[in-house]
Amino acid sequence: MEILRCENVSKVYGKGETKVTALDKVSFTVEKGEFVSIIGPSGSGKSTLLHILGGVDKPTEGKVFIDGTDIHSLSEDKLAIFRRRQIGLVYQFYNLMPVLNIDENIALPHILDGRPLDKERLDQVVEHLGLTDRRNNLPSQLSGGQQQRVSIGRALYSHPAILLADEPTGNLDRKTGEEIIELLKESNEKNKQTLILITHDEALAMQADRIISIEDGRIGRDEKVRNLV
Ligand code: ADP
Ligand code: ADP
Repeated sequence: MEILRCENVSKVYGKGETKVTALDKVSFTVEKGEFVSIIGPSGSGKSTLLHILGGVDKPTEGKVFIDGTDIHSLSEDKLAIFRRRQIGLVYQFYNLMPVLNIDENIALPHILDGRPLDKERLDQVVEHLGLTDRRNNLPSQLSGGQQQRVSIGRALYSHPAILLADEPTGNLDRKTGEEIIELLKESNEKNKQTLILITHDEALAMQADRIISIEDGRIGRDEKVRNLV
């Protein structure tokens, strides 16, 4: 089943002499449960693409369908709700609320939606993250790897249609980074969570089922990964 369709997406920043074409007619689709890595050098358009797929930024041209919804045709209010429910975002820096504890950070998008707290789901997520004994802590009391776990928990809490991760290990040492990728892979394998990972690290990208490369705002290769083990 197709969960994501990116159709002829272009993004142009600025105009005249400062005009930059960050994305040039990018098209691809992702099936439900797929784990896709998007790789490319700095400045190739990866973050721009992720922001457009995540509904954070609008394309200059083209459309993005998530689970059949043309997300950029939604009103601002409707898109905000759609994002909180269907799009999980994980960044290099964790973007946690410093005055809220782990439980509150994870449940925040849900609470902003005016929905009652699902305590059972929260317990499940916190346990999956291995942070049950730290749940009353503030982000400042956690290591970088633990803070990234919390941001992943927040992204996964509402079972989003897609999870988008932009260089999620970029600020972590290699071992902690590998643990974070393991956590993402686990939710992909166990719960068929569709996962899109943006990275400039080829070794990390190889963990996925499929690699799409972006070069100068265009799709270069789009290949299945052959897992030898
Ligand atoms: P990557 O994530 O692969 O490093 P980006 O998507 O950040 O690439 O950037 C792609 C190109 O678009 C770069 O040339 C960058 O300078 C430009 N760019 C990105 N964001 C903006 C912006 N807000 N305004 C102007 N140019 C931008
Ligand atoms: P990354 O490579 O991880 O995208 P960048 O430093 O390229 O990191 O971009 C960080 C932020 O700055 C992004 O939100 C991007 O859209 C914005 N940005 C990147 N290039 C430019 C630019 N030339 N002008 C304005 N904003 C930019």
